[in-house]
Amino acid sequence: MVGGGVRDLLAGVKPKDFDIATNARPEQIRQLFRGCRLVGRRFMIAHVRMGAEIVEVTTFRGPITDSHERDDTGRILSDNIYGTLEDDALRRDFTLNALYYDIRDYSIVDFTGGVEDLRSKTIRLIGDPELRYREDPVRMLRAIRIGNKLHFRLDPAAVAPLKTLAPLLGEIPPARLFDEVLKLLLNPEAVENFRAMYWFNLWRELFPDNAAALDAGGDDVRGFIEGALANTAERMRQGQPVSPSFLFASLLWPCVRERAAELKTKQGHPEFIAITQAGDEFFARQSQRIAVPKRFSFPAREIWQLQPRFERRRGGAPQKFLTHPRFRAAYDFLLLRAAHGEPVQELADWWTQAQAGQPPPVPEGGDPPLPARKRKRRRRRGSGGGGQQAPQSQD
Ligand code: ATP
Ligand code: MG
Repeated sequence: MVGGGVRDLLAGVKPKDFDIATNARPEQIRQLFRGCRLVGRRFMIAHVRMGAEIVEVTTFRGPITDSHERDDTGRILSDNIYGTLEDDALRRDFTLNALYYDIRDYSIVDFTGGVEDLRSKTIRLIGDPELRYREDPVRMLRAIRIGNKLHFRLDPAAVAPLKTLAPLLGEIPPARLFDEVLKLLLNPEAVENFRAMYWFNLWRELFPDNAAALDAGGDDVRGFIEGALANTAERMRQGQPVSPSFLFASLLWPCVRERAAELKTKQGHPEFIAITQAGDEFFARQSQRIAVPKRFSFPAREIWQLQPRFERRRGGAPQKFLTHPRFRAAYDFLLLRAAHGEPVQELADWWTQAQAGQPPPVPEGGDPPLPARKRKRRRRRGSGGGGQQAPQSQD
């Protein structure tokens, strides 16, 4: 057994999963276990099903040689040479992650000084940090995530190259970055992870527009982003479900909000259209860095598109909205906006009371004018659909 499972057990943290390393070749592993699937192109990994869990089984990797294909930044592109246990240890990222638990004699096998680093609570790269980051820039994100998870410090030599090498994250395929970003941000340490990434200029590579908004926007933008991450972290600590959709809706909102306001004033778009268009623009830009699957980006758009609906508080509109499947997410989002500088606190309070079944009177002039809404409502009823607000149809 190797990797995070061993590391976390020794550090006194509950492991997320267990990884196995072996000298058996992928084909041999497959013959041994019935529920086994071979995955991965760069390096073949066996996924062995054990009840409800999947255990990752990897054949020992061999040493890096000149025959490994690299790009011109030093990133390793092909990786299919097998080796010994010691070779395998030296290929891992941090000393703590290269500890092997040997089930034959219950011993810990340590080739890289991982036990000592565990004792001194230090995240240290195996070998030359700059070289190891260049081989795989995602290790920069892993250093931050694992350091914050264990509340360990990063070895100064692991910190030194971060700001300079941060732009190398631009070479990583957007789908892989999506996975890594989720691990960092759907995380009880999400706020700390965000702060470290921002500090080391990694955030800029992942969320360029958001970073620009943070640079320009001051305390409210930062408060909004950190507020969203703190909510997520708190929910995780309490074992409540968290969604990538809400996360991405929050991260892109400062830009989307500003752009939507611009589209409203300059081009006279109604709010729903302005938000939809701005959201499409920023998701298109963001997807060049991080590939957010549609099953998450669509609900994120919907959270934005539902925001103007909170302003329709007369007649039957509220009752209908309260039963909308994404009402809760949109309402949580409204609360977040209210808490960080947007003038929607009165609205948020109204909807809090409406959910308790006691909506207070709607204040004068707070909502869009009645005649337009009345006409719309009648037409919708006539068409029998009532689906004017089904935002997906706008995509
Ligand atoms: P956790 O499971 O808590 O996220 P982990 O360290 O187990 O942390 P995995 O992605 O499960 O992370 O990887 C298992 C092991 O594989 C790591 O502990 C490490 O030894 C090795 N590993 C993972 N990613 C890399 C990488 N980018 N470079 C080198 N070794 C890696
Ligand atoms: Mg693991």
